[in-house]
Amino acid sequence: MKILFVYKGRYQVRDSITIEYLSSIAKQYNCKTALVYDQDTFGITDNVFYFPLLNRLTSRQEDIAKKIIKENPDFVVFLDGFNRTKWNEAINKKIKQIKNKIRTINILSIKKESINLDYNYTLIGEAEYTFDKFLKDKIFNSKDGIYSFSGLANLDMLPLADKFLFSKYIDFKLSYMLYTSKGCLYNCSYCEETIYKNEFGGAYFRRRSPKNVISELEKAKKDFDIREIIYKDSVFTFDKEWLKEYLTLYREKINLPYKCFAKAEVFDEEIANLLKKSGCYCVEFGVQTFNEKIKKEILLRNESNQQLLAAFKICDRYNLPYDVDHLFGIPTESVKDHIEAARIYMNLKFLNRIKTHNLTFYPQAQIYNFAPQYIKNNKNYQADFFSILSGEKNIININKIFIKYFKVLPLLPKKINLFILKKNRLKIFTYFPNILILICMFLVAIKNKDRRFLIYLRLYLRKILLSFQ
Ligand code: SF4
Repeated sequence: MKILFVYKGRYQVRDSITIEYLSSIAKQYNCKTALVYDQDTFGITDNVFYFPLLNRLTSRQEDIAKKIIKENPDFVVFLDGFNRTKWNEAINKKIKQIKNKIRTINILSIKKESINLDYNYTLIGEAEYTFDKFLKDKIFNSKDGIYSFSGLANLDMLPLADKFLFSKYIDFKLSYMLYTSKGCLYNCSYCEETIYKNEFGGAYFRRRSPKNVISELEKAKKDFDIREIIYKDSVFTFDKEWLKEYLTLYREKINLPYKCFAKAEVFDEEIANLLKKSGCYCVEFGVQTFNEKIKKEILLRNESNQQLLAAFKICDRYNLPYDVDHLFGIPTESVKDHIEAARIYMNLKFLNRIKTHNLTFYPQAQIYNFAPQYIKNNKNYQADFFSILSGEKNIININKIFIKYFKVLPLLPKKINLFILKKNRLKIFTYFPNILILICMFLVAIKNKDRRFLIYLRLYLRKILLSFQ
């Protein structure tokens, strides 16, 4: 049986790894697998450039439909996602118009009020668990319809993700993306992980054993000669005992430079030391805002400014560079909040980059209650944390200025930053074209020897080239 996966979006997210797992599960049942991939270059999920016009050139539904038909699969599998539902439905419709006997499966992790019945099978539940049940119980021999499964996959029992599925598109030698866990312990009001946890319960958060992760990396070294790793876990550092055991094995068997994510309220000297000694070249913290009231009441995040500053100080002491995530478009945020953040950032010694994000109001997330009315009125609202500016209309233009400024801030000496912040001088950033900001970001990367930025730039150029082929 040949199973074809169809996916649209950037690779560096959880869903692509889920599809790799689905492929390896299918192979366990002696299926052949293939992929038709739309990288969504310049589209809503592109975290570098969002150009809808160019996106139309690189992302054509007709081409995707033709590629699917050409593969002649027994089943076409779509994985639903926060920004993919409509695209999946359109592709499903198109391929059925060309070949009405083609059999399609839609996997829904989050239940919906109305279910599109154009697919032959709709599987509801955690994708890995559900798809395994579908194949094991031979549901493909049963009548078309909706099948729900409650249960969660044991991460250590899953076959290793099928990395060859995306290997035409992603240079794993340059950077290897890895998750050692699934889900998150925290409950931030805007986050996909919270939505999944609300759907599946507290057990949704799980972690692989150190041995299981190391076996994946040993295979990746053999298959792709990997040279760098990015751990995409929500909070890689949260469990010190796991970390100690894992990093001891890691140093012994893998020993490659890596980047990971940490959380200030569970970060200390011991963790910084463990990271530094095991090859971590950059750690990323979520800040989002320094307005503690907004953070607590709207974002449902509990770390205090004091905890954040303490974590940064520790990194400074250990010469461990750090990136920070900063969110724009938070309801009730003000210019004062942005200025306060800038004053803090300009004093941080090992701050590498301020990664600016735009708050996205997923209708399933608690933050949606705070969404501006124009978003609630828009039935076709689709956004991603990188592409679409959000927020109350009166602050959108101010946010645009600060987004540009924050990208440049780590390049500038403190005196210049103080000078810019005075007397409305920030307005000058209105006239800075994006290309100039990108050049400044490149200079930040050179100044801070930011390995990740340069890797991502190479991956991104490759993505553009492949999109036009
Ligand atoms: S800590 Fe990060 S991953 Fe976890 S819920 Fe909050 S935003 Fe999401």
